[in-house]
Amino acid sequence: MKLITDKDTNGLPSKEFKEFLKTPTLYSSFTKEEADELEQTLKDGLNKYPGLGISATQLGIKKRACYIKFGDDENGMELFLLNPIIKDRNKDGFLFYEGCLSIPKTVTSPLRTIRSTKVVVQTDNLGELTFEINPEGDKANERVSVETMMTVIVQHEIDHLDGITIKDRIYSTTRTVTKNYGRNDLIVMKSKDGEMIEVKYKNANKYFLQGYEVV
Ligand SMILES: [Zn+2]
Repeated sequence: MKLITDKDTNGLPSKEFKEFLKTPTLYSSFTKEEADELEQTLKDGLNKYPGLGISATQLGIKKRACYIKFGDDENGMELFLLNPIIKDRNKDGFLFYEGCLSIPKTVTSPLRTIRSTKVVVQTDNLGELTFEINPEGDKANERVSVETMMTVIVQHEIDHLDGITIKDRIYSTTRTVTKNYGRNDLIVMKSKDGEMIEVKYKNANKYFLQGYEVV
């Protein structure tokens, strides 16, 4: 089991990072056995590479699944999400500092990111789940609440399945991240009910009009 990172051992951009972590992963179906096996692989992965969550794509598995473990039994949460998608998100954002195991530099120097204050996640194994930051607000110098942490982690891990990294979520008042697509580039779009399709950029407008958005 190997963790995919942005740079290879020579410090050059890694090909795997582009393939697994900069490209969206499409929906696939699982048998019960396959799902159990993947859950175990992700648990082992998080033991080997300690963090707050891990996605299958970070381990070079092109499947939509992630495993999150934050806090302890009394005050924490542990979740295995199969084919999760963000079905709905609050337009309000809040700022956070995040690091990512796959971008090792950010583990020691976290990036300031912006996240939605509330997301509704649809999964195959746990149905619909809602994550929302602590309404009381998290105070400086106190441990961040489980609600707030989970709201961030779940967005971070699902981003990994959608080919988005924390570098794409940097909060900046002076810079916006834009992507330039060629007419024949394939992009992944998501319908209102979460169906994901791959289409050529030149055909994207047709889907926009049907309510699809670019992932
Ligand atoms: Zn990450």
